[in-house]
Parts: sequence; C-alpha cells; structure tokens
Amino acid sequence: MIGQELHHGESFWSFLISVDKDLAECARQRGCSCGGRLHRADYPRAPRSGLDDLPEDYRCRFSFCCDRDGCRKRLTPPSVRFLGRKVYLGAVVILISAMRQGPSPRRLREQSSLFGVDRATITRWQAFWRDHVPKTPFWRLASARLVPLIEIVTLPLSLVEAFGRTNDPYQDWVKLLRFLSPLTVSDSEMIKISR
Ligand SMILES: [Zn+2]
Repeated sequence: MIGQELHHGESFWSFLISVDKDLAECARQRGCSCGGRLHRADYPRAPRSGLDDLPEDYRCRFSFCCDRDGCRKRLTPPSVRFLGRKVYLGAVVILISAMRQGPSPRRLREQSSLFGVDRATITRWQAFWRDHVPKTPFWRLASARLVPLIEIVTLPLSLVEAFGRTNDPYQDWVKLLRFLSPLTVSDSEMIKISR
C-alpha cells in the first residue's frame, strides 16, 4: 500500500521534481506547434502540504512561452507534483481522498491532520473525483483502456489499488501520477496529451 513514503523527508518530493523536470524537458524539445522555440515562463505556486521540508522547487510550476511574435503561446507541461489548480500536492489529494473511501477512519484522521487537510477540503476533493474527473476528455479515453479495472464510484481508491501493486512505492506513485497528469493541464492541451 502506498502512503508512508510521503512522510519520509525530502527524498520522495525531490524524486517527483526530477520527474517533472523530465516532462518539462520533453515539452521544451518538442517546441511550439507554430515551430517557435519555448522559453521558460514558470508560474509561482504556494502549495499547502503540512510538510516543513518541502524542496524550494515546489514554489514553481514549470511552464513555457513561445518566442515567436504573433504566437507567444503558453505551454504548461503535465506535472506529477500539482493536480490542476489545487493548492495541495497531487499525491496528497489522491492519498487522502483514497483513505476517505478506505476501511480505516483512524488512519484518515491521522493523515489528514499531518497534511493539514480539513473536512470541508476532503468533501470538495470527493466531489472533484466523483463529478469532475469522469467528465473530462482524459477520463473518457483512459477509462476505455482500464475498464473493468477501475470503478468510477470508488475514484481514486480504485486507482491507488490498481497502481499500488509492487514493492516500489516510488515507481507506483510515478505511474499513477503520470497516468493522471493529463488532468494537470488545460483542456485543449489535455486532449493532445491523452492521445
Ligand atoms: Zn508558437
């Protein structure tokens, strides 16, 4: 079961940064659809985490801007750290939401107080998984590949169970977070990435 590694100091969170850097580098090398070059134009972020030792790099979401006059398009690559515009880290949103559906209310209470997540926030996250995710273009494509593995009624617990099967929780997390990473970009970019 994945979960404990989120508290094991900086290493897990630094590991996710290295994955995001790879995703950003792939996007930079592809360049803009107009043929222009992409320049770094990161967004500042201030994630809530309840963790004291979150690496400095968590203060930005990697992003690019096309350098061609007349285009200047913004391109934000997918991320395994940030889930859309949520102020909490993606892994925390997934873990706490999955525990809400799991068998141990005690463990949910422990984890949500460690990460500083209140009850109202968890309720909003449940609505996100139940009402928003299944309607996204990403999910329509992804669920066609996963069904019958994944039940929408138990998102994201069903995903955590489907992806958390090896003895290497870091790799399980990266597979799960990369799978969900199309949710971290805008709708028009999402469709391209999902394909
Ligand atoms: Zn361009």
